[in-house]
Amino acid sequence: MRSQYCGQVTEELIGQEVTICGWVHRRRDHGGVIFLDMRDREGIAQVVFDPDTEESFAAADRVRSEYVLQIKGLVRGRPEGTINENMTTGKIEILGKELVVLNSAETPPFPLDEFVDVGEDTRLKYRFMDLRRPEMLNKLMFRSKVTNYIRNYMDGNGFMDVETPILTRATPEGARDYLVPSRTQPGNFFALPQSPQLFKQLLMVSGVDRYYQIAKCFRDEDLRADRQPEFTQVDVEASYMSEEEIMANMEGMVGSMFKDLLDVDLGEFPKMPYSEAMSKYGSDKPDLRISLEIVDVADLMESIEFKVFAGPAKDPKGRVAALKVDGGAELSRKQIDEYTKFVGIYGAKGLAWIKVNEIEKGVEGLQSPIVKFLGEEVAMQIMDRLGVKNGDIVFFGADKEKVVNEALGALRCKVGEDLNMFTTEWAPLWVVDFPMFEELDDGGLTAIHHPFTAPSCSPAELRDAPEKALSRAYDMVLNGTELGGGSIRIHDGEMQSIVFDILGIDAEEQQEKFGFLLDALKFGCPPHGGLAFGLDRLVMLMTGASSIREVIAFPKTQSATDVLTKAPGEVDKKQLRELSIKLNLPEPQKEESN
Ligand code: ASP
Repeated sequence: MRSQYCGQVTEELIGQEVTICGWVHRRRDHGGVIFLDMRDREGIAQVVFDPDTEESFAAADRVRSEYVLQIKGLVRGRPEGTINENMTTGKIEILGKELVVLNSAETPPFPLDEFVDVGEDTRLKYRFMDLRRPEMLNKLMFRSKVTNYIRNYMDGNGFMDVETPILTRATPEGARDYLVPSRTQPGNFFALPQSPQLFKQLLMVSGVDRYYQIAKCFRDEDLRADRQPEFTQVDVEASYMSEEEIMANMEGMVGSMFKDLLDVDLGEFPKMPYSEAMSKYGSDKPDLRISLEIVDVADLMESIEFKVFAGPAKDPKGRVAALKVDGGAELSRKQIDEYTKFVGIYGAKGLAWIKVNEIEKGVEGLQSPIVKFLGEEVAMQIMDRLGVKNGDIVFFGADKEKVVNEALGALRCKVGEDLNMFTTEWAPLWVVDFPMFEELDDGGLTAIHHPFTAPSCSPAELRDAPEKALSRAYDMVLNGTELGGGSIRIHDGEMQSIVFDILGIDAEEQQEKFGFLLDALKFGCPPHGGLAFGLDRLVMLMTGASSIREVIAFPKTQSATDVLTKAPGEVDKKQLRELSIKLNLPEPQKEESN
């Protein structure tokens, strides 16, 4: 139906006849001449109709925004002074000869030819229109380039694309499962995969050697953070590769993709132990674009009278730390109050601070509500350790270690952003040497990565002191976002059982839930490892989008619903009967459905 995309009609075609198809982006009537900006996936072309071509002029006069047209016309150079250097088609216009209306359109729910701040619910309800906007289509096109790049890279490195089941058993990745009731086995449920983890490991036992898949994964978790119940992972697994080899391979992929698609040189990714990330940045995904660092000061506070600091300083699970912000003494009382509220989100009970006005005057030169509680000597020791200068502010966190890390870690990024303290545009790194386990509130242990991650110690050492064991896991972090994570896996049945034991999964449950894995480990399982990237996050960062919803064609809302198709929806009684399901809804909903 067309000879060119609208966006591809350039000056090389001057003098030629073209046929384009697309939407009316904008229509302008310039006293006897009608201009139609025609839009398709590739861009916009300007078409001019003059009254000489009577029939098509009359048709052009009737069309409205978003009508679908086919236009045949002659490409000519734009008159002097009307050239638009910012458009690929800005040097030409098409003199319209024939116009066919392929479809009309109602007035769109929001204009597509200009930026209007439309509520997200409206955008999602009319997603098919929202995606028609060039900035949205461009993101989808970019996403397609990324997946294509990844496939080529993986193929080029000997990785095989293998599909794994969607209807499966629960794989523990730490979230709630989406369940699908079985009709043929009443009372039993499939779980949608939280990741293809166990299947990819089984593929290593099978000899696939190098696997990848661009896989949909499902996690029914709290959507507060920018998460989606279904999301896409670039899932990778390889046999006989060490963690260094896997990291180098994946760094190669991400690095060359940034270079080729964005012309960004990420350089070599530094490796940082988890313990350093937590102590300096309060986070296992530090944003290294901001140079601010958290510094421990507990040892200086242990013997002071002031309990707010001395308590956590003496508590083995506590932490007392300081964050020096260069030039931060300018912050107003109001801003500091806002930061105090901000750290409250992470459970901090307050935010102590010291402004450094004239350090040469000693404590006299410090302005702070807390210096008097610290005493002169301790206050100056802290200033000394932090290497403060006039004009700085120092914030403090004193609480359980977790609270201090989260609060000061988040404050570090917030202040860094507010005061524009970025030192670079891109800051990638690997975080390594994670602990195997973390303690739950009930005193039990849970796997930091997942229960199939290999420890870096022997089975005996693991059994003796699981809380001290480190794992062979690694996370790739970019600009404070975890892009991907993985590990070398346990390929030995005994070690796997020890980990299950530590996690409180007894022998019977091990057999019931993971019998197939333990079996597979008995039949010659090669050493293997892998990782998975969050594709949505990766594309979000690469396109500068504000949320992963912006790079997913049909995302769910924060309450995990699809407002376009109205999913999830009710099902009829017959379907429920077939599945042997009786609803037991909470009261208010019961009334509604009656
Ligand atoms: N299955 C892991 C995840 O989804 C990734 C991996 O260990 O390969 O986070």
